Amino acid sequence: MSRAHKIGSLLFCPDCGTLLNLPIGDEQTVVCEQCAHEEPITTRSHPDAFPSALQQKRKTQTKTHNADEVRLKVTELCPNCGHLEAYSEEKQLRSADEGSTILYTCVKCKYGWRVNN
Ligand SMILES: [Zn+2]
Ligand SMILES: [Zn+2]
Repeated sequence: MSRAHKIGSLLFCPDCGTLLNLPIGDEQTVVCEQCAHEEPITTRSHPDAFPSALQQKRKTQTKTHNADEVRLKVTELCPNCGHLEAYSEEKQLRSADEGSTILYTCVKCKYGWRVNN
């Protein structure tokens, strides 16, 4: 059994390829003007036309960011405002001989400075 080719809202006759006139109102079939083929009209929608795998894939793309996990609150005197709390972040330099640098950011005024070990 051949089925009509439906492209968008257009319907073509499966027998001769003629563009069929869509039915008006409650008509359940369209008749081809060229070959008299009768094509049943299905108005049933397809809610599951899109695979659910696509929706599941979109969910897994949500990522949690841990931007603050390397920051550590320490007691350090801010050279800018004299506040005694700062966030510290240790940066390892390329060479082990050069030691490491600790970056401080003042909790109060957000002033940043670094101390070499
Ligand atoms: Zn036809
Ligand atoms: Zn400060």
